Amino acid sequence: MPPPIATTFQDLIDRHAAILLDAYGVLVDLSGALPGAAAWVDELNRRGKPYWLASNTAARLPESAARRYQGFGLAIPAERILSSGMLLKPHFEAHDLTGRRILVLGPEDSQRYAELAGGVVVEAGADFDCLVVADQAGFPFLDTVDAVLSALIDRFDAGLTVPMVLPNPDLVYPTGHGCGITSGSIAVLIEAALAQRYPGRAGLTFARLGKPWPGLFEAAARLAGTRDLVMVGDQLDTDIVGAARFGIASALVPGVLTGNRRAVDGIEPTYLLHPAL
Ligand SMILES: [Mg+2]
Repeated sequence: MPPPIATTFQDLIDRHAAILLDAYGVLVDLSGALPGAAAWVDELNRRGKPYWLASNTAARLPESAARRYQGFGLAIPAERILSSGMLLKPHFEAHDLTGRRILVLGPEDSQRYAELAGGVVVEAGADFDCLVVADQAGFPFLDTVDAVLSALIDRFDAGLTVPMVLPNPDLVYPTGHGCGITSGSIAVLIEAALAQRYPGRAGLTFARLGKPWPGLFEAAARLAGTRDLVMVGDQLDTDIVGAARFGIASALVPGVLTGNRRAVDGIEPTYLLHPAL
């Protein structure tokens, strides 16, 4: 694998047919737009370049996300937003979960994603057929995780299976003043507790939908009508590894989550990019 090429955003636009942008750590953090993000989006819009946000978040519907981005000065229309929440529908269809009772961890938009996917969203404490850990916000954390783990153990002790789905497999995200844990960390915690209680038993892991798994890349390639894509992201483990496995180029925007690492499992980004360029 050749070493990453230091490049500019303009160069990426010139080299590739369409651009995929990660959200957190590339365009925004919790507090607003990152330096240079508005200029990138303006340039894409001005040139009429095909682009999509390919975001692992399942906490906001595209319309809500677009409004929030626009509030930060990023002119991104809702139809340019692909999120891991949108992958619930094909997953539910493929795994016979349409019409089933779904317990969703996450804010209101996460619940809405599960409804739009054809699930019947139930309240905390009610019986459920499937667990979706969509986001780390929108509920009292420890009480909720304890209750969900207890409910899963009740079901697994009774010999039932409970499909568990994780739209956003990210473990951490940049908060703007450090790192925060993300829904993927909740799933890892639940998986570890279940693996300890039921050693060797199958079916105790989450189905993971977002990057680095191929769902978002497949959706983008379908919309773009090409695989000449470049994924611009800040996470080696999701954006860069996912793009490489899908067979497209990637550009790393080093940030708080990158640390000193520049490769995972020998996979390096195609390009290195700094927001100011
Ligand atoms: Mg990110």
